[in-house]
Amino acid sequence: MSVLKLPISLEFFPPKTPEGAEKLRLVRQKLYPLQPEFCSVTYGAGGSTQEGTFATVAQIQAEGVSAACHFSCIGATKDSVRTELATLKAMGVQRLVALRGDLPSGYGAGGEFQHASDLVAFIRAETGDDFHIEVAAYPEIHPQAKSPELDLQAFATKVKAGANSAITQYFYNSDAYFRFVDDAYKLGVDVPVVPGIMPITSSSQLLRFSDACGAEIPRWIRLRLQAYGDDVESIKAFGLDVVSDLCEQLINGGVPAIHFYTMNQSAATLDIVKRLGAA
Ligand code: FAD
Repeated sequence: MSVLKLPISLEFFPPKTPEGAEKLRLVRQKLYPLQPEFCSVTYGAGGSTQEGTFATVAQIQAEGVSAACHFSCIGATKDSVRTELATLKAMGVQRLVALRGDLPSGYGAGGEFQHASDLVAFIRAETGDDFHIEVAAYPEIHPQAKSPELDLQAFATKVKAGANSAITQYFYNSDAYFRFVDDAYKLGVDVPVVPGIMPITSSSQLLRFSDACGAEIPRWIRLRLQAYGDDVESIKAFGLDVVSDLCEQLINGGVPAIHFYTMNQSAATLDIVKRLGAA
């Protein structure tokens, strides 16, 4: 159990160079004292980062920490998924984050899986209970959803296909999370829905990224961040206040765990946990 007295997990993306891999190794060493329940590694849609993802997962496991491998199915075939599952099983991986993913524009759709629910059902049918399966959840609604109601139903379908738990897209409004969880439970979802927390360390990157992924930056946060301009220290101090407050609201509201999007950095996550531990 972490110092927060509730489980935490940490997310990384696979580095592209040996220097990046070494830097990430040092970041992990700084974060391991938080005693994460698991560390997850993202997976580029279409298998674009497969080698780096699997290598990072293997390194985390070799460090004695449980690793979760993200796994996206868009553009994949049943045969290719079967092969990758066998590889992960042979590596001793026990936890997957099963996703549809997004192909870069121009790739078309293709593949034998349409939605993450198809992948979850396939993994269950092929491998039984070998893997703990996480799925993605969107308290502020997936950007391609036809309607909020259909998005919620799609989430429930995905869970009922065999997921053990869910991790949310990041958000800065705890009401959206609590409402989403209440509504999902009314549809029969009975698995933990763990909030995904994105520390705020820079302004332009966050604002750009959020538009595309279905996360809203509230107006007051957006305007404050823009007003700081290039003043990185003020952005970090403000971000620490905002995100620690959010985590406190979530913890007081009874969340089952917290998942940190570390962005392969240690300082912001450590600062938030320290602030919360002291609170
Ligand atoms: P789905 O659950 O399939 O949903 C996608 C869309 O289809 C939604 O709009 C949904 O409403 C709709 N839908 C779903 N099922 C149905 C149905 N049966 N009928 C009609 N509509 C349906 N991306 C990566 O590329 N790599 C990663 O490692 C990665 N990790 C992530 C981790 C987390 C915790 C989160 C929240 C997201 C992550 N993503 C990652 C982003 C994710 O791949 C994208 O958000 C993608 O657009 C949707 O993937 P999904 O698994 O949520 O898809």
